[in-house]
Amino acid sequence: MTDVEHMKWWGWGVEGVGFHHEDKPGFAPFVLQAVGLDLATAQKAEQPSFEELDLADPVAPAELVAALAAIVGEDFVRTDAMERVVHTYGKSLRDLVRIRTGDIARAVDVVVYPADEDDVQRIVDAVVAADAVLIPFGGGSNIAGSLEPQAGEQRPVVSVDMGRMSAVIDIDADSGLARIQAGALGPHLEAQLAAQGWTIGHFPDSFTHSTIGGWAATRSSGMQSDKYGDIAQIVRGLRVVRPSHPDRDGVLVIPAIPSASTGPSVREMIVGSEGRLGVITEVTAQVHRVAEVREIQAYFFPNWAAGLKAMQAISVSDATPIITRVSDARETGFSLATSKERHGMDAILAEKVLPGIMRSKGWTLEDICLSFIGFEGSAEHVKRQKKLVGAIVKQHGGMGVGTGPGVLYDQKKFDTPYLRDFLLDRGAAGDVSETAAPWSKLAGVYDAVIAAAEGAYAEIGTKGWIMCHLSHSYHSGACLYFTFAFVFGDDPLGEYDVVKSAIQQAFVDNGATISHHHGVGVEHSPWIEQDISPEGVAVVRGLFGAVDPGDHFNPGKVV
Ligand code: FAD
Repeated sequence: MTDVEHMKWWGWGVEGVGFHHEDKPGFAPFVLQAVGLDLATAQKAEQPSFEELDLADPVAPAELVAALAAIVGEDFVRTDAMERVVHTYGKSLRDLVRIRTGDIARAVDVVVYPADEDDVQRIVDAVVAADAVLIPFGGGSNIAGSLEPQAGEQRPVVSVDMGRMSAVIDIDADSGLARIQAGALGPHLEAQLAAQGWTIGHFPDSFTHSTIGGWAATRSSGMQSDKYGDIAQIVRGLRVVRPSHPDRDGVLVIPAIPSASTGPSVREMIVGSEGRLGVITEVTAQVHRVAEVREIQAYFFPNWAAGLKAMQAISVSDATPIITRVSDARETGFSLATSKERHGMDAILAEKVLPGIMRSKGWTLEDICLSFIGFEGSAEHVKRQKKLVGAIVKQHGGMGVGTGPGVLYDQKKFDTPYLRDFLLDRGAAGDVSETAAPWSKLAGVYDAVIAAAEGAYAEIGTKGWIMCHLSHSYHSGACLYFTFAFVFGDDPLGEYDVVKSAIQQAFVDNGATISHHHGVGVEHSPWIEQDISPEGVAVVRGLFGAVDPGDHFNPGKVV
């Protein structure tokens, strides 16, 4: 036993936890209307059977396994089927469909669990000496195809699971910098920081099952990025293990400096490298004192255009919220449908009083857009921030409805990922594509993506759904996060490709990026040239090729 926690092999999160809609009366009618799936009659698939998976034997030469065991001990080198399967895929929709149907073209062969950086160095050297492939593994939560071995890989593939390296090593309280081992999962590192009054402020929706090493390697972004920054800003220093040389070890060290003029940023090259430049063993992250007050206020806007304009106005104002988020009318409808049943005054306010006020303002209820804005700091700071934001909301025709919906949003944010498995169990896809663009292009990107998805649904002849929210605001633009769903026909992955490709193509065709925070992997790499230009791809290929001429580190990802 390694004592390292993993998600269930066939889906998100832990066994026994799932999405339920019985306490959300609006959910079933919503799904029926949105994608034509009748939850009352839909057959729920049986949980996939692990025994029925057809897994090829591992390509694990005895000498390599023995060399790894000599480094970490026999208990921490695994070649059994469950370990191999858990470490082969991430949690993208494509991964989930493939794992549920037993489609494992090339599993990893060996899983090894280092205890410290010295182990990692010796593992890296053993893998390179054996001409094998090494794939670092954090929480296995990526949705960009960043983990799977290349189909047809002939060499042994070793997954290096960082789960035993999960400590917050020390905190430089003067500087607000914490040294954290790369395998620390969100809740583990946050608990260690919180014990000393600190927070990292990085909360992706996958927080519970992803690691700081994985966040860095995929250029992740958390829901409070407006205040705390994306992981690219949060990561100040790094230790990365690469093959050792005759005259030195292979540890690349980036000191935690607030800003440096030392040529092209090696720190930035590592961030987003998806395991292709080595194994991150330690991150020095900027951390913050836990705020005195934290509040998420909800607002409604009469329509999407007003919501977008308000978010832009907030981003260039004196207000410094931690979260700026506005849902389009479709996602607002979805959020209202997934609310729990209301009772008493609560029901009267939400179902009668509030719609009455909106109608009296001349709003069309089908167009309304729900927004969450988060505030943190001293009581006085939060008060002032709310005043600034409240005035901007008002200028754009919106209105505040207090903290009630925000509390619910905060509570259920880490449960929503279970919805994908719920839909897959009933023969439907639910997935996401996200992007970022300058403010001047956002409305156009939105329209183009909705049209592209609708065109794709027409092409595959199905009733599909797409909704969006804006989150992660910057001075010059913001992220748009699309969620789409449809009922599968005869060719689930073929149909999925049509929809997903149409959305990704609409991003690059309209001046947006292929990914704001999910990374590239193999899922988005078909569009990387259209995003960063052919010459940009040549530069990245040159980097990977020069520092890893033997193609040992997670080959095939990014470019
Ligand atoms: P893994 O999936 O294990 O690995 C991802 C990549 O990083 C692989 O290429 C791997 O080789 C590499 N890697 C991992 N650890 C190391 C290391 N120590 N050294 C070198 N390379 C390493 N992402 C966001 O940014 N924001 C979100 O809000 C968000 N929400 C999500 C919600 C759901 C439901 C799901 C399924 C995913 C979500 N993601 C989100 C995507 C995912 O959680 C991130 O990509 C995350 O950063 C991956 O971290 P991980 O530890 O799970 O890495």
